[in-house]
Amino acid sequence: TTVSVTGATGFIGKRLVQRLHADKHSVRVLTRSRSKAQLIFPVKDFPGIVIAEEREWKDCIQGSNAVVNLAGMPISTRWSPQQGTHGIFFQWMASFAIDQGNLSTLVVMQIKKEIKQSRIKVTAKVVDLINGSPEGLRPTVLVSATAVGYYGSSETQVFDEHSPSGNDYLAEVCREWEATALRVNKDVRLALIRIGVVLGKDGGALAKMIPLFMMFAGGPLGSGQQWFSWIHLDDIVNLIYEALTNPSYKGVINGTAPNPVRLAEMCEQLGNVMGRPSWLPVPDFALKAVLGEGASVVLDGQKVLPAKAKQLGFQFKYPHVKDALKTILS
Ligand code: NDP
Repeated sequence: TTVSVTGATGFIGKRLVQRLHADKHSVRVLTRSRSKAQLIFPVKDFPGIVIAEEREWKDCIQGSNAVVNLAGMPISTRWSPQQGTHGIFFQWMASFAIDQGNLSTLVVMQIKKEIKQSRIKVTAKVVDLINGSPEGLRPTVLVSATAVGYYGSSETQVFDEHSPSGNDYLAEVCREWEATALRVNKDVRLALIRIGVVLGKDGGALAKMIPLFMMFAGGPLGSGQQWFSWIHLDDIVNLIYEALTNPSYKGVINGTAPNPVRLAEMCEQLGNVMGRPSWLPVPDFALKAVLGEGASVVLDGQKVLPAKAKQLGFQFKYPHVKDALKTILS
């Protein structure tokens, strides 16, 4: 089959494209930058792969059997735990030095706008191109990313696909992101994957956390009691792959491991696996003082269970965070 992928050059996309290519699917990489994509997918390793910049997306989507939509400006940009304690400290110091906190408010507002717009814009474009494809050339499947941020945050509640959306900023982003994907033609099978924090080598949240642990300065932000709904990179790639190929994968599907942990436990496990202590938590009040609303992304989490994936019989390779971390760091 022929699969077009947006966000293919990213952390999840790269691995998905490798997998699709290895399984002899023909892959079309929909990117904003051909030169970047060519470096990531050199012809010698990926013969036959098509790399397309935005004006060529239409021709790629027409004639593809399926589309995977993963594009979006990284949420970790300057205001999430993925940034790690050093980034937060840096921002904290910079904001005091320059404008007693006003700088960070402006930065956060701008980032918030881009976080939302980048996702809605690409998703709208993909959906319009699918809907506008002549029948016979129209893809029959769209797998579109969204995030567990949809549910808002809670230290006590447990969320599955039937839970209502939260009322913070990221929940709003996810609702609009999903609503845009839902505009796809009704004869296209749509799978919306609400992705948790993806753990893998060379990227994502762990790439930011590991250097801190190496320097003995890793540790939870805030109380550490916030939930951390994670998933191993191999599992999210497998889930997206299943959603592409298995017609039972339809509607909203949580992309999280069956055993979420609290952030303190995640940091402790990470410390254990790396043989480093987990300490130096950054206190809530310091983060709130600097980040305002942005602090909620750092301080709050959500416990999200993969009810639908389990019901569909999806087999997780890494159900427990300890095993996931061991393989990633080995
Ligand atoms: P990455 O940040 O690694 O990559 C996403 C891709 O999106 C980039 O390679 C880039 O592709 C494109 N992109 C980046 N900025 C913009 C922008 N401003 N406008 C349009 N496109 C842009 O993402 P991940 O692989 O980590 O995640 C994939 C999707 O899954 C994202 O939408 C993310 O929000 C979601 N997700 C990820 C989680 C995680 O832990 N990784 C958790 C929850 C959700 P190019 O330059 O080729 O155009």
